[in-house]
Amino acid sequence: MNTGHKHPTGPHKLIKYARKTIVLTLVATGLLPGTPQVYGQDYPYKPVAFTQVQLTDRFWKPKIEVNATVTIPYILRMCKEHGRIDNFLKAAGRLPAGDKMTTYPFDDTDIYKLIEGASYSLQTTPNPLLDNQLDTLIQIIGQAQEPDGYLYTFRTAKVSHPQQWTGQHRWQNAEILSHELYNCGHLYEAAVAHYQATGKKTLLNIAIKNADLLVRDFGWGKIEKYPGHPVVEMGLAKLYRATGDKKYLDLAKFFLDVRGPQKDNKGDAYNQSNIKLVNQRQAEGHAVRAAYLYSGMADVAALTKDTAYLTAIDAIWNDIINHKLYITGGIGATGNGEAFGPAYDLPNMTAYAETCAAIANVYFNERMFLLHGDARYIDVLEKTLYNGLLSGVSLDGTHFFYPNPLASLGQHARSGWFDCACCITNISRFMPSMPEYIYAQGNNALFVNLFVANKASFELKSGKVQLEQITNYPWDGKIQIKVTPVSTNRFSLHVRIPGWAKGNALPGDLYHFLDVNPHPVDFFLNGQPVDYKLVHGYAVINHEWKKGDELSFNLPMPVKKTLANPEVKADSKRFALQRGPIMYCIEGADRKDSSVMHLVIDTAAPARMIYAADKLGGIEQLELPGYLLKRNNDPQHHGIEKIQTRITAIPYYSWNNRGPDEMEVWIPYDVSSGTPLPAPSIASKSRVSGSYVSKLMLRALNDQTTPKDSKDQRTGNLHWWPAKNQSEWVQYDFDKAYTISSAKVYFFDDGPFGGCRVPESWKLLYKEQDKWIPVENTSAYTTKKDCFNQVTFKPVKATALRLQLQLPQDNSSGILEWSVK
Ligand SMILES: [Zn+2]
Repeated sequence: MNTGHKHPTGPHKLIKYARKTIVLTLVATGLLPGTPQVYGQDYPYKPVAFTQVQLTDRFWKPKIEVNATVTIPYILRMCKEHGRIDNFLKAAGRLPAGDKMTTYPFDDTDIYKLIEGASYSLQTTPNPLLDNQLDTLIQIIGQAQEPDGYLYTFRTAKVSHPQQWTGQHRWQNAEILSHELYNCGHLYEAAVAHYQATGKKTLLNIAIKNADLLVRDFGWGKIEKYPGHPVVEMGLAKLYRATGDKKYLDLAKFFLDVRGPQKDNKGDAYNQSNIKLVNQRQAEGHAVRAAYLYSGMADVAALTKDTAYLTAIDAIWNDIINHKLYITGGIGATGNGEAFGPAYDLPNMTAYAETCAAIANVYFNERMFLLHGDARYIDVLEKTLYNGLLSGVSLDGTHFFYPNPLASLGQHARSGWFDCACCITNISRFMPSMPEYIYAQGNNALFVNLFVANKASFELKSGKVQLEQITNYPWDGKIQIKVTPVSTNRFSLHVRIPGWAKGNALPGDLYHFLDVNPHPVDFFLNGQPVDYKLVHGYAVINHEWKKGDELSFNLPMPVKKTLANPEVKADSKRFALQRGPIMYCIEGADRKDSSVMHLVIDTAAPARMIYAADKLGGIEQLELPGYLLKRNNDPQHHGIEKIQTRITAIPYYSWNNRGPDEMEVWIPYDVSSGTPLPAPSIASKSRVSGSYVSKLMLRALNDQTTPKDSKDQRTGNLHWWPAKNQSEWVQYDFDKAYTISSAKVYFFDDGPFGGCRVPESWKLLYKEQDKWIPVENTSAYTTKKDCFNQVTFKPVKATALRLQLQLPQDNSSGILEWSVK
């Protein structure tokens, strides 16, 4: 969501939000009895609804069950406790409006996303209690809706202190902060899901009444405004498919066509409105807004055959995969505007890679596949699904990441709730829909996109057919597909051969394997080798299928070391471990006493795979020989010692389930990119403490690395954000008394966007017999950026030294390094 403010240095509590969809071609899949005829055309490839797919696997099924039995009830309780339901009760007049609403006007969408996820879940996991709870919620939503269809609790409930983003009147701030249209989009998605799941039209009727108001109010010659935060485009496309009423599609297209600079508003790259959509070629601005928008463009392009939008999203997709995609599938590198950064700017520890953006990236790539029928889109989808999306929720289903960093000193932890809860409700609605991405249908063709043990049924042109996948994917690449047509049936089976099995880490040239060496993938039909044609990344087997036919193949899964394009400075001289679709990381919980950040692994190091059934829900973990780097005072080998050690790597999605800890995806393979343990020094032998700073932050103080500039957070930083205009301190308690006469400090300063600047002033105090005495400095206390500030003073014999600093009036401060002589 957009908070409308710059993201500062420290822990983020940004805002943001939201979500979107899976194209349910409802009519095509026969899910909506009595649905009117769909107008026009749609995607050339059709998704297969998850209701046709029954999981039998040991990876996804248990996770979806946790979502159904733990996460959804948990979120319902949290929405209640955090006023989301009261917002609707206030708008309905069932509670006194009072002083104010909850924090953000898009809080209504948490309820819509909850209903959407719960509806998907009800289809596969019947639950009468939940069904009733949804009925109650929907009744309250209906009561909160105004007579003409308007539904936005923050305006309808007339609180004495309205939230400023809402504006004075309806739609006034629709292009910026009100999120009125954003709320509508999530309402439509929830309504279609609920109708599809239960056959009840209660929420659908509310949605239609609301959408009819939008059709009356917006359009050429009416209100010519675009949604500040997209999602309504996808929602309207769904509503169009569900009802067959073309006016909803026309409105979706209008919202795309009207987006861009206008007479009195030149637009903003932040929400993709600075350039007409048909002319956009790069992924820019807020990542969730962007990927929802691109998904809406794909929907409208498919439904209207508008090729101008296709040209735009094809170019944008290429920009993302060549310049702006994390190896985990995460997008949106920077917390500043929750946005795409410049090309190749993919920092690891400060990666934003919001959970909602990963979900949006799945939506976008699914649609690109449905448009083009090419497996490379599913390569991106799969990478995102198993890594940067799945990491968004804890294994127990009650803790959530907003950003998904690729490195940590332990400052990151999933949270049970956020004031801006977008990622939480988004992942809960995504999980039960996951089986929808496994298959797709073309013209008398069946596409196997993902490998998950399941049973599924399809209606092809040539007749009905059932499929069963038997596999232990993602831990094993052996896959059997049993084909059971009702009667003998000729169709082509398109089995995706993942890019990683063909030697491609991901589409585009951002990432590649150190050792490409693809193993050929052989297919066997009833035990006999069978020929296939490779078309757009699929093994195509056209065959007269009969009962009992069984196709088997093996996707070899050696451990691969992935390198980044040299332009990605953050990954320089590092590799990431990958096996099949899974990315790995090293986590501190697997290290006895040394930290993750001081390790290096040779590029030639062999990896051993060990299945750990009782660890982290059952994982295939990796073990490799490596080295712990340690600084010493021996000038040979640049004063760095390499100590042999065995290193364990775990799947990235499973990190942070054993408490906050150090973690790293991109592992240095060269001493020059490693971070050695500090050598013995006064500082490194000291006990470190400070005012309001964590132990982990304190470690940054004396790691003996020289930052490249004042923004450099590679080895951590110590900061007091968001405190400002006050005095703070850090302190070294020496192991014994030393005579000292100088000290140097490197300040942290992440201006102009971050919240830290060099301090107003600083000074040193030493401890003598329990008294703190200022040193008599013989040089000035400078406060320069991007360098050490050294001060010399009259030698003193001390047992401790304290650095006291005054934070600037309007900013905080921090320290990257502090040493004493
Ligand atoms: Zn989010």
